[in-house]
Amino acid sequence: MKKYDVAIIGAGAAGLAAAGRAVARGRSVVIFDMGETPARKVAAAGGGRCNFTNMAAARDKYFGGNPDFVRGALARVTPADILQWVEGHGLQAIEKAPGQLFCRSGGADIVASLMSDAMGARIITNATIDNSKFKDGNFIITSNNIEFSATSLIVATGGISFASLGVSDAGYKIAKDFGHKIIPPRPALCAIDTKTFPTQWAGISIPVHITANGRNINGDMLFTHFGIGGPAVYSASVAPATSEIRINLMPGINMDEWLREMKRSAGRKSLFTILSEHMPKQIARYFAGEPRNMADFRDTDLINIAQRINSIVIPAGQWRHHGMAAAEVTFGGVDTCDISSKTMESKIQPGLFFAGEVMDIIGDLGGYNLHWAWASGRIAGENA
Ligand SMILES: Cc1cc2nc3c(=O)[nH]c(=O)nc-3n(C[C@H](O)[C@H](O)[C@H](O)COP(=O)(O)OP(=O)(O)OC[C@H]3O[C@@H](n4cnc5c(N)ncnc54)[C@H](O)[C@@H]3O)c2cc1C
Repeated sequence: MKKYDVAIIGAGAAGLAAAGRAVARGRSVVIFDMGETPARKVAAAGGGRCNFTNMAAARDKYFGGNPDFVRGALARVTPADILQWVEGHGLQAIEKAPGQLFCRSGGADIVASLMSDAMGARIITNATIDNSKFKDGNFIITSNNIEFSATSLIVATGGISFASLGVSDAGYKIAKDFGHKIIPPRPALCAIDTKTFPTQWAGISIPVHITANGRNINGDMLFTHFGIGGPAVYSASVAPATSEIRINLMPGINMDEWLREMKRSAGRKSLFTILSEHMPKQIARYFAGEPRNMADFRDTDLINIAQRINSIVIPAGQWRHHGMAAAEVTFGGVDTCDISSKTMESKIQPGLFFAGEVMDIIGDLGGYNLHWAWASGRIAGENA
């Protein structure tokens, strides 16, 4: 039986970050990955440009049963550390939006950097691991009928969303076998299905303000044939399906005041003309209804229209997450209450560690998820 200090299940963002640290400490490391190539989500991230971190990474960007869990890891592995790591590998970062850092030459170079840090570790691809036993002080992993043993095991199997890139729920099963609780997984950072908007608006993108589950989100929203998508909606999809979603289609404009002012100063213009000054024509036509001049509207009618534009309410039950297949992350996973936030080690089974999205932690859209994978992965690798 081959014996290693550290076995890692999952050669993704967190698993490779962990491997890099464990190798640097002189530990012998074996990594198993079910895929043909490692870190496929890293390569695909950010449309191929890999939004690898965000300078605003802090507790308020993370969600899960206990988001405070991230505090220690974020203090120890900061966005500046990750930027320094990227630049240390000769790569250039570009800031597409304030604080949001992408790799100029693409995610494949980030993967190459991870691989170069993990040099010395044995990486076994096309190796799907279903379970691990703990026997005589060692974790036993069987891959393609060959047994491996390790004194520490890092579970870094990621989430179960975006299955086309190759995912499994083995991390949850292994955690459960060792007595860990699993928070039921569901999609997040995804589009939303709703019949609230006319399907003729599909393809239109506008800046909106969304309130969902107590969070305020500004950004672009895309109307689709099944509902809504785009960055603001992806961020809002962190909310549970029991939440009400409120959308302001004209953020920054108090429609009520503005429409009544237009009635006074531009009474001969049609409502459609007035609305079209600030929104796409299809949407303006929908809210304007039959052609009518501003002066012909009662104030109460205008207030009503303004409310429909400034505060569209989608009650719970009238929307749902678009599905796991296209969700960027999985909300839920291994409950962090039984994991040490300092070391990522299980509080139930010594020597067992978790890293990345397999845990019940997700970040907002904008580079926070990869940051969590790097931070938790490094810490697991430093302690395993
Ligand atoms: C399309 C897309 C774009 C994204 N873009 C961004 C972005 O720009 N910025 C950002 O911050 N986040 C982004 N994310 C999210 C981010 O990629 C993930 O949160 C991150 O990769 C999680 O890292 P991880 O190591 O925990 O899991 P992963 O990177 O998913 O790695 C898990 C690894 O485990 C392996 N594995 C799973 N089960 C088994 C098994 N049973 N046996 C062996 N191996 C197994 C998998 O093959 C995989 O390689 C994106 C996600 C998607 C799907």
